[in-house]
Amino acid sequence: MIKGLRLLSTLLTPKVNSKERIQTALQGIRDLLPAGGGHCVACLAPDARYGLCNPCRQDLPVNRWHCRCCALPLAFAGNETLCGQCLQAPPPFSRVIAPWRYRFPVDGMIQRYKYNGQRAFARPLINDLADHLIATLDTTPELRPDLLLASPMHPARRRKRGFNQAADIAEQISKRSGIPWTTELVTRNRHTHPQRGLNREQRLANLRGIYDVTGTPPPRIAIVDDVVTTGATARSLAEVLLGAGATDVQIWALARTPG
Ligand SMILES: [Zn+2]
Ligand SMILES: [Zn+2]
Repeated sequence: MIKGLRLLSTLLTPKVNSKERIQTALQGIRDLLPAGGGHCVACLAPDARYGLCNPCRQDLPVNRWHCRCCALPLAFAGNETLCGQCLQAPPPFSRVIAPWRYRFPVDGMIQRYKYNGQRAFARPLINDLADHLIATLDTTPELRPDLLLASPMHPARRRKRGFNQAADIAEQISKRSGIPWTTELVTRNRHTHPQRGLNREQRLANLRGIYDVTGTPPPRIAIVDDVVTTGATARSLAEVLLGAGATDVQIWALARTPG
């Protein structure tokens, strides 16, 4: 059972103590393993798949009931339902696939990955997302996109953070699914204020005109990101891609926030 996410970070923090250093090195090696094995990142149980044991995996908040277009979590059963926002203003993308809800412990796992570069926390989520996508494409091959596009990050923010988590996720989904990926097709032409803390209208205004398409998009694209929040980024990106000739844009992400 997941009680907290502190255990692994104590292993990952470099300490003068040599035992700690060895454990850190071992964890680094485990992170490089492509699949299976390793200890659970949440409870350190030895029998883990992609770094998460089964009991901890069962504690993850699955986004079971959701809007069939934007994957907004719904409080009631029915995945053929559209949320109020999608009914009122149909989004330019065709669907969002996001297997988890952005709440404990998925929120903490993604934050450690994104802001602290602790990839071990994202490994089970990314691989489980890949499993889910591969199973979905097996039953509905018409959903298969021609290209995965990592949600673009402004170069200044990328330098500050050290990596673009969306590119990292896209690369791993590409390896597992065989669908090519890129970061090149769309650029972010200016730095925006962080989206956190802004409401939906403010986010849309914040993003207006910030994306340039630099090539010819293939017909079918899946934009890959870590979290879909209000969907403002997804809407802006999908709009520019459709404007440049794409015919179908999906969003693939690890998690969806409740609103
Ligand atoms: Zn566990
Ligand atoms: Zn919706």
